[in-house]
Amino acid sequence: MITVGVDLGGTNLRAAILHPDGALSAVQREVLSDPSPQAVLDAVVAATSTAMREAGVAPESVGAVGIGLAGQIHRASGLVAVGPNLGWRDVPFGTMLAAAFPCPVRLENDLSAAVFGEAMAGAGRGVAHLALVAVGSGVGCGLIEAGRLVDGAAGLAGEIGHMKVVPGGEACGCGEQGCLEAYVGGHRLALRARRLAEGTDPSSPLSQATVTAKDVGDAFEAGDAVARRILEEAGDHLGLAVANLVTLLNPKRVLLGGSVLLGIPYLVDRVRDGVSRFTARPALGEVEVALATLGDDAGLYGAAYLARSGASSAA
Ligand SMILES: [Zn+2]
Repeated sequence: MITVGVDLGGTNLRAAILHPDGALSAVQREVLSDPSPQAVLDAVVAATSTAMREAGVAPESVGAVGIGLAGQIHRASGLVAVGPNLGWRDVPFGTMLAAAFPCPVRLENDLSAAVFGEAMAGAGRGVAHLALVAVGSGVGCGLIEAGRLVDGAAGLAGEIGHMKVVPGGEACGCGEQGCLEAYVGGHRLALRARRLAEGTDPSSPLSQATVTAKDVGDAFEAGDAVARRILEEAGDHLGLAVANLVTLLNPKRVLLGGSVLLGIPYLVDRVRDGVSRFTARPALGEVEVALATLGDDAGLYGAAYLARSGASSAA
C-alpha cells in the first residue's frame, strides 16, 4: 500500500510518500503562516497533493494518510483536545481530515508517530518494547509496549516533560511548576543559563537575549562554568526521569532524540550515567540506551507507517 505521512509542527509541516518497499520520497515542506484549523487543513491537502504529483503517484492509489501532531488527541473522535504549538483547543481535526481525503486518515500524537517511525525504519527496528525520549524546545516521549503504541486513557501517556522533578520548582510553559521541561527543554535551558550568567558574569556571551540551547552546549565545550552548572542540573533531572521510566516500563531499548539532546553530547552522557545509576537493577540489565537515527524524518515515517498499519477514519 502507498501511504502519505504528514508531520505537523507549529510553524511548518512536512509531507512525504511512503512506498510499499519502505522508501520515503517527495518530501514537501510548507510554512504555516495561519494556524487556524481550516488554513492548516488546506496546507496539509496542498502538501499531500504536491507530494503525490512529484512522486508520480495517482491520488486513487494512496491507501491512507497518517498525520502526527503535537498535542492531546482523542483517537476515537479525532478531537485535538489541546494542540499547544498551534494554539488549538477542542478542534475536530480528525473529522475535518476525513471530509477532505477520500481515503482513511489516521491522526496521532507526534511523538507516538516518531517512536513508531524509529520502530519501523530507524534505531528501534524489531524492538517490541521501545521508548523514545526527545528533547527539543519541549520534552516528550513516545512509547511502544508489546508492539503497540501506548496512548493512555485520554491520549496523554508519555508526557515525561511534565513529570515533576522539583516540587514547587521552576515555572513551566504548561502553567505548572517544577516540570522536567522547565529545566531541560531548549528554551528553558537557554533562559536559565542566561539568568545565571546575568547574575554572575554580565559580560558572558550567555547573558545575551538571543542565547539558545546550542549556545549553552557550545559554551560548555569551551569550559564555561555557567553552562556546566545548567547542563549538569538538566542532565541530572533528565537522567533520573529516564531511569524511572525504565524502572516503570521495562523497555528493551530507550532511544534518545530531539535537536537539543542530540546537539549536546554531554547531556546524552549524563542521561546514560543517570540510567545506569538510578534504574532499579533488574530492569537495568535488560535495557539498551541508543540514539534515535531518523531525526526529523521519524515523524514522517511513523505517520505513514501508522496509516499503513491500521488506518481508521477518525470521524
Ligand atoms: Zn509542565
